[in-house]
Amino acid sequence: MEKIVIVGTGCAGLTAALYAARANLSPLVLTGIQPGGLLTTTSIVENFPGFPDGVDGYELVTRIQKQAERFGARVQFGSLESADFTARPFKLSVDGNIVETESVIIATGAGHRHLGLENEHLLENKGVTYCATCDGALPMFRNQPLVVVGGGDSACEEALYLTKFASVVYLVHRRDKLRASKVMADRVANHPKIKMIWDSAVTDVLDVKQDKVTGVRVKNLLTCVESTVDCAGLFVAIGHVPNTKLFKGVIDQDENGYITPTAGAATNIPGVFVAGDCSDHVYRQAITAAGAGCAAAIEAGRYLEALGY
Ligand code: NAP
Repeated sequence: MEKIVIVGTGCAGLTAALYAARANLSPLVLTGIQPGGLLTTTSIVENFPGFPDGVDGYELVTRIQKQAERFGARVQFGSLESADFTARPFKLSVDGNIVETESVIIATGAGHRHLGLENEHLLENKGVTYCATCDGALPMFRNQPLVVVGGGDSACEEALYLTKFASVVYLVHRRDKLRASKVMADRVANHPKIKMIWDSAVTDVLDVKQDKVTGVRVKNLLTCVESTVDCAGLFVAIGHVPNTKLFKGVIDQDENGYITPTAGAATNIPGVFVAGDCSDHVYRQAITAAGAGCAAAIEAGRYLEALGY
């Protein structure tokens, strides 16, 4: 039987693993389908303390994983399919196998929010993407006009990254002011290849008949006038949804699916703790996720100590 299973290997899960491992709890850490979490799809992380020149997102999580493994964390490629928290030990179904554990840290992170358009879905990976660093360099986007939708740091980061490849980047935002941090907003405003399309929404993606993106329909929300913006790619960067469906109805969540801790990292089920973006819709930073992972591991350690471990 496991003492502690950590679900997720983003900054939160791996930092929890590091702390649990150093407490001699030999944590089992499940990667889920996206090992390393969303941070691995970011390019350079410039605001994680200790890296004055920035650090590649993938490299950062790989380093934390190595650090955790050095102290005995066991990282296993696998996905949690269901969890039975009705009695101790808890029973987790992981890729068809049952894993029994005294405690769990949920660090499942968040996924990309979609616009919800039918053609967005039909043209996914045919020009519609949710990750510029993953897909931006593809030949189909080179020297082509590209559209990014969103107004936060992610949209700005995507737009700036895409300027390396695109002929022009249109940034479509539904308001007349970016939500992004000032430094990112200034970089976007000053970039000669980025053109802002304010107060506008993407209402359709063209062209399903050609089985590739050739443009988007954009509606000005003030005038209601619609127009077509020719482009070879649509990069959607409109925020995230927490990966918490599996725990719905069992672990307390808010109306948007973010897990709501009862106190600190504790959830409504004693022995189940939470950390990172699956419970944080406010800060959502690599460093706050790492801090939350640390806190969750410390609390789980205290819980296990009270059980006699
Ligand atoms: P975010 O800050 O929540 O921004 C989402 C953006 O998408 C907002 O501008 C929002 O518009 C827009 N939006 C939401 N739903 C929409 C819809 N259905 N249609 C059109 N637009 C929609 O998300 P984020 O940019 O992914 O950032 C998440 C967190 O990660 C933030 O805390 C951010 O600071 C952090 N982050 C930091 C960096 C960095 O420091 N380099 C990079 C990436 C992310 P409204 O503005 O109108 O709400």
